[in-house]
Amino acid sequence: MKEQLAKIRAEALSAFESVRDSAALDELRVKYLGKKGELTAVLKQMGRLSAEERPAMGQLANEVRAALENALDAASHKLEKAAMELKLKAETVDVTIPGKQVRVGRRHPMNTALEEIKDIFIGMGFTVLDGPEIELAELNFDRLNAEEGHPSRDWSDTFYFDEDSRVMLRSQTSPMQVRAMDSMELPIRIIAPGRVYRKDEVDATHSPMFHQVEGMVIDKNITMADLKGTLNTLAERLFGQGTVTRFRPHHFPFTEPSCEMDVQCHKCGGVGCPTCKGEGWIELLGAGMIHPRVLEMAGIDPEEWSGWAFGMGLERTALRRFKIADMRLIFENDVRFLEQF
Ligand SMILES: [Zn+2]
Repeated sequence: MKEQLAKIRAEALSAFESVRDSAALDELRVKYLGKKGELTAVLKQMGRLSAEERPAMGQLANEVRAALENALDAASHKLEKAAMELKLKAETVDVTIPGKQVRVGRRHPMNTALEEIKDIFIGMGFTVLDGPEIELAELNFDRLNAEEGHPSRDWSDTFYFDEDSRVMLRSQTSPMQVRAMDSMELPIRIIAPGRVYRKDEVDATHSPMFHQVEGMVIDKNITMADLKGTLNTLAERLFGQGTVTRFRPHHFPFTEPSCEMDVQCHKCGGVGCPTCKGEGWIELLGAGMIHPRVLEMAGIDPEEWSGWAFGMGLERTALRRFKIADMRLIFENDVRFLEQF
């Protein structure tokens, strides 16, 4: 029996020593220390020993059990440690690897300019309208008093969809004036920003696609003074307090009288420089009092109602607002350029 115990002890200790994983360790635990294990099997034979032999053998058996349990604990501990080391190794973070850069988007300078313009007009009680870019020539020209034969209707200037020149890419946001007059209750105060299309070659100040902001007011007793007051407020809010403007007589078919508004050059203060092409002024928009015929065609009595309207180029405004020299930069979407704003 003594030899049996010694054999179990030696075998078990060596087995615990070399165990590789926790499943195998558990098998060993059952094999040596379990209820049906080898040690228990030996202890069951204790009954056959004489009363003199029993205490010494009992003590030896307890020692063997204790030794096995210690070895089991040690092996279990060793496996846990190894598993933890493996895990730590697998989850090692290399703090020297460069991080992934998050690219933060920015508002396009033209959107910023548009948002500012919208804010200014919304603050003055205007409604912002959106309209179709594919437009009827009737609304783009006829209803705006630009009759057949008007130079702007020419095929060399306008993108038409059909032989009869009835459907087109709108060449201006002004048809929104007609759409507003047809659909809204008087009095009307609207702005209508959007894309417009003309057959222009691309250069520093031209593009076949560009943006305009249309504006229109129709109410009772509206005069040129309202037009100038509102547009001067726009210029000051957009370009800064004390921005100097001037109004020059002009001609548009749908306004009478018509004018163009210039702002004094921000670069030279009106002396003349390359930015303003030596003129000291930069043209900002066209405007005027709505032609009585335009009101009449919309069923509005020009004796009772009057109004003013304007159309401004958004790109040109953004160039002025952000001091950009070339309009092509606005469309090229080069992030190195756009990141500046
Ligand atoms: Zn200048």
